[in-house]
Amino acid sequence: MTQVPGAGVTDHGGGVWSIAVPIPDNPLGHTLVHLLDTDRGPVLVDTGWDDPDSWDVLVAGLAACGADVADMYGVLLTHHHPDHHGLSARVRAASGAWLAMHEADAHVVRRTREYPMERWYGYMADKLTAAGAPAAHVAPLLAARDAGRTPRLAAHLPALPDRPLPPGELLDLPGRRLRAVWTPGHTPGHVCLHLEEAHPARLPGRGRLFSGDHLLPGITPHIGLYEDPDDSTVTDPLGDYLDSLERVGRLGAAEVLPAHQHAFAHAPDRVRELLAHHEARLAGLRALLAEPRTPWQLAERMEWNRPWADIPAGSRTIAVSEAEAHLRRLVKLGRAEAVPGSEPVAYVAV
Ligand SMILES: [Zn+2]
Ligand SMILES: [Zn+2]
Repeated sequence: MTQVPGAGVTDHGGGVWSIAVPIPDNPLGHTLVHLLDTDRGPVLVDTGWDDPDSWDVLVAGLAACGADVADMYGVLLTHHHPDHHGLSARVRAASGAWLAMHEADAHVVRRTREYPMERWYGYMADKLTAAGAPAAHVAPLLAARDAGRTPRLAAHLPALPDRPLPPGELLDLPGRRLRAVWTPGHTPGHVCLHLEEAHPARLPGRGRLFSGDHLLPGITPHIGLYEDPDDSTVTDPLGDYLDSLERVGRLGAAEVLPAHQHAFAHAPDRVRELLAHHEARLAGLRALLAEPRTPWQLAERMEWNRPWADIPAGSRTIAVSEAEAHLRRLVKLGRAEAVPGSEPVAYVAV
């Protein structure tokens, strides 16, 4: 692993580089966009946040790796979030590269592009009310809903992918052995990409893993509900995430190349750590349910990176979604249940 002259570019060896593309005004700092050489031309894993400065850093980073953005052959997207998929349209326009994404996340992109904003506000207002959110929290959503049609700017819509990213299969990348591994949880269609080639520095283990947001060295990804107004399936994203962690741990990758923070070895150790973390967190939440609480009341009492009083409204909505994902899991495990007749529905430990 060597630092390439030029800020934020690392040569990971064996035709793999990372470029730290900044995310403006975000404590995460940057997305690690990876560049992978193939016999058909360079391929990107994720693209970074859609911002002019981020674009300049990506283009300069590619140049430092000896690549030109105009030569990109394809883009593999770990998931649809804007810090990963944001610059995809621009890369495609500059190069003609295809964009590949798992079908479940492509579905989210299509819905984001097509679903009228006012209906989305209405859906969120109903969900938050059902989760026990106070009227003051829901009011701005209702106002936005009632304001009527909010046009979306075409430039701000996420790019439609061109092809699926079929899980379990070796991808058609001449000269490379790269396999998509479906790892739902953080999003319904999140994938990790397993580079099934000997590690260039001969680290023990099986190849390298582009892990997106699924497996990160120092933080845990947000796990909320998969919001879909057209689908009433009761999903279990936290259960999906924990299953996906085990799946990734079993790959035994020699090194993990995540989309944030830094590369690290010993993937199975990190997986064990995260499984233990979530087990402890679930136990802690169950203890909070000694008396009945709505998802909102649970979120208020959960541990966040700052006191609840300092969390802005948008982030509170995300926090409640995370509380609900944990409640789903506890209910599924038979460790909590809904209080019959409660409105909004409250949950209690069993
Ligand atoms: Zn993400
Ligand atoms: Zn991310």
